[in-house]
Amino acid sequence: MKYPVLDLGAVNAPLMPAISAAIDEVVQSGRYVGGPVVEAFEEELAAATGTPRAVGVSNGLDAMRLIFKAYIELGRLSPGDAVIVPANTYVASFLAITDAGLRPVPVEPDAVTLNMDTTLLEAAYTPDVKAVLTVHLYGRACYDAALRDFVGRHNLLLVEDNAQAIGADGDVAGPLGTARTGALGHAAAFSFYPTKNVGALGDAGAVTSADTDLLDAVRALANYGSRERYNNIYKGYNCRLDPVQAAVLRVKLAALPAITAARRRNAAAYQAAIDNEAVTKPLMTAPDRCVWHQYVVRVSDRAMFRNYLAANGVGTDVHYPVPPHRQKCYAEYSALRLPVTELLADTVVSLPISEALTPAQIGEISRIINSYRP
Ligand SMILES: *Cc1c(COP(=O)(O)O)cnc(C)c1O
Repeated sequence: MKYPVLDLGAVNAPLMPAISAAIDEVVQSGRYVGGPVVEAFEEELAAATGTPRAVGVSNGLDAMRLIFKAYIELGRLSPGDAVIVPANTYVASFLAITDAGLRPVPVEPDAVTLNMDTTLLEAAYTPDVKAVLTVHLYGRACYDAALRDFVGRHNLLLVEDNAQAIGADGDVAGPLGTARTGALGHAAAFSFYPTKNVGALGDAGAVTSADTDLLDAVRALANYGSRERYNNIYKGYNCRLDPVQAAVLRVKLAALPAITAARRRNAAAYQAAIDNEAVTKPLMTAPDRCVWHQYVVRVSDRAMFRNYLAANGVGTDVHYPVPPHRQKCYAEYSALRLPVTELLADTVVSLPISEALTPAQIGEISRIINSYRP
C-alpha cells in the first residue's frame, strides 16, 4: 500500500531522538510507576487544556470509567441514572456508562457535523437523566450554546469523551472561559492510544477537571481506592499512567501545535482537491477549531469505493461500521431505530490524514479519488 491509512512509524520518526532520550531517562531513574515524570506530564496537559489539574490514567476507557465511578462514590450520580450519549460513537463511550451501572440514552447525530445533534437534547430529557457524555468525534468539538444551556437548565453533569479532539475548540466558551476541549464540561477523558493525535507507544489516558474532589477520587480509584498506602477508602482499581508512557507523551504533547497544523493543512488540501459527486466531503466551517483526528467522507457504495482505492494504493478505514446499539453486547438496544446513525455507519470512510503526509501526497490521493466512478 503506497498510502496506508495510518503509518505510525512515519508519524513518530521525526520525534524518535527526543522520545528515545526521554525513555532512557526513565529507565535510568529506576522509578517505573508514578513519580516526577508522570506529574510533569499531568501539569503540562492541564496547562495545554486550560484546566487547573489533570490525572494520568491507563487509557481512555478507564479515564471515562473512573470519572463515572468517582461521581458515584461522591454521591453525584447513582446507579440507574441515565446519561445522554451520541448514538454515533465508538463503543467505549457506551461501555464506560454501562460499566458504572448507568443507563445510556442515545441521541442521533447531525448528518453534516456527524456529532450529536444538540437540537434533539430537550426531547431526550427525562427526570432520570443526570449527565451528558459529549463525544468530540473525528476531532470536531461537540459543544455549542444548545448543549451548554441544556446542561445548565437541568443541572446535569457534563463529561467529555475527548479521545479524538485534543487541542480542538468548541463553538462557544465553557464555564472556565475557554472553548478548548477537555475544559468544557465538569470532567473530561483523554485517550493517548497510539493512533490518536497525541499517541503514546502503548495504552495511556488522562482525566482533566476543575473539580478537586472529582480528581482526588479519580486518582484514588485508579490506585486501588487508596490515597495513603494500606488505607483504602474505595474499592478501587489499578489504572495508573506509567512514566515511560508519560515521558513519550511529554514529547508528543509539545509537538501538538505542529501536529494539529499539519492535519489542518492536509484537510484543507483534500477539501480543495476532492471533486467527485459520488464523494461527500466533511463540513469545513471553523477549520481552525477542528483537529482532524479523522478525515471522513461519505459514499453510497462503500465496499466498491474502498476496493477501488486499495487497488490504487490508498488505504482507508471505517469509524465505525457497527454502532453501539447494534452490537451483540447491547442486545437490549437492538430494537432502537436510529436511522441517521445507521446511515452513517453504512457510508462513512476515513481517508489518510496524518501529519506524516504532505499536501502533495494528499493531492495525489485526491486525484485518485476524483477518478472514481461508481
Ligand atoms: C479511542 C477512543 C476511546 C477509548 O480510548 P482507549 O485509550 O483506546 O481506551 C474512547 N472513545 C473514543 C471516541 C475513542 O476514539
